[in-house]
Amino acid sequence: MKAIVYKDAKKVELNEVEDPRVETETDAVIRISTAGICGSDLHMYEGRTSVEPGTVLGHENMGIIEKVGSAVKSIRVGDRVVIPFNVACGFCLNCERGFTSACLTVNAEAPSGGYGYAGMGPYRGGQAELLRVPFADFNCLKLPGTPGDELEDDFLLLSDVFPTAFHSTELAQVKPGCTIAIFGAGPVGLNAALCSMLKGASEVYVVDNIPARLDKAREIGAIPIDFSKGDPAEQIIERRKSNPLIRASLRPGEEKMPGVMCGIDAVGYQAREFSAPRKESPVEVLSSLVKVINPTGNLGIVGVYTAEDPHGVNNKAKEGVLELPWGELFEKGIALGTGQCPVKRYNRFLRDLIIAGRAKPSFIVSHRLSLEEAPDAYSKFDERAPGYTKILLKPASSTGKKAA
Ligand code: NAD
Ligand code: ZN
Repeated sequence: MKAIVYKDAKKVELNEVEDPRVETETDAVIRISTAGICGSDLHMYEGRTSVEPGTVLGHENMGIIEKVGSAVKSIRVGDRVVIPFNVACGFCLNCERGFTSACLTVNAEAPSGGYGYAGMGPYRGGQAELLRVPFADFNCLKLPGTPGDELEDDFLLLSDVFPTAFHSTELAQVKPGCTIAIFGAGPVGLNAALCSMLKGASEVYVVDNIPARLDKAREIGAIPIDFSKGDPAEQIIERRKSNPLIRASLRPGEEKMPGVMCGIDAVGYQAREFSAPRKESPVEVLSSLVKVINPTGNLGIVGVYTAEDPHGVNNKAKEGVLELPWGELFEKGIALGTGQCPVKRYNRFLRDLIIAGRAKPSFIVSHRLSLEEAPDAYSKFDERAPGYTKILLKPASSTGKKAA
């Protein structure tokens, strides 16, 4: 089959590789109809992980079941399915506790497995024609409809972006009426804004410096904050202070709560410095969140931080050790949650929101391309080229086309 293979930093290629097969009786093989390129793939693309050359990339996968092992009971050949990016067994301590993001049995090196990703076990990715799915009964989420229908792209986002975004709003304790600042208007941040709206947040601020992405935030009713126009925490506090309706509703003492109650980091360790965006500053976003979140607020961190980063900005950052305003965080009593999303905790319920027409996470998709076009798309996406917000690969299409 054809597959996108990691060769070296900034180099991926379309190669012929061996077809995956049913290796044990609990496996399935799916024919990929759509696979996403994720912001997380760029960490590997940029040479900032230990990914092995030859790895088939792609952890955002959906398609049609082509083969099943003899023990697979609930999924049949021909079923349409979407696959969580986490590979999970379903029976270990952590899977039973709902943490499929920390499965104890699928990866000898770490407590978590995933497709086509550095350090996540021996599983090939789905930016390819076919994909082997272990523990298929547990990992396949069944979908209605047929490949290429009007819900295809929404369903694809159930593999990672939409559940990860929802998870970030759970970590940040987003509730009806609450105020929230989301840093990063990439696919994850924009979907976190969508999830905050679904949960009934009152003010949703989205911080970035890419105009096309900020426009998307505005499109769904969030308030875009451009960090190239000044310190984003101060911009948010200033906007709230200068709103006469907010001002007129304050009781004595409430001026000590000038920011927001919830915050989300959808950027991670490659955060840019606000005043010099060509420079990387891994603490920029977290420090700003500590500043803008009110005392007793909640912070959800889904943007990735790594314990090993060969290109870290200094020796400490190379070991994932960052200098943070911990004192201020403690004094404010901010609660925080981090880590990989356990996709299976949410994907079934989010699927049903899509089916019911209550959520359309695919508003972020900018490009639908063939596998042949993927190497060039990686490089454009990595440069954050204008308009490249979310790229989906369609292995069955030889020509591919830019999204309307
Ligand atoms: P992305 O790279 O497309 O988006 C990141 C955005 O952050 C970009 O638009 C960039 O301009 C913006 N940004 C950079 N510096 C900033 C700053 N200082 N302030 C505000 N915005 C800034 O990536 P994505 O696909 O949206 O993913 C976002 C993060 O989430 C990545 O770190 C990715 O690895 C991570 N992720 C985590 C999980 C999980 O399970 N925890 C799952 C998927 C993705
Ligand atoms: Zn992803």
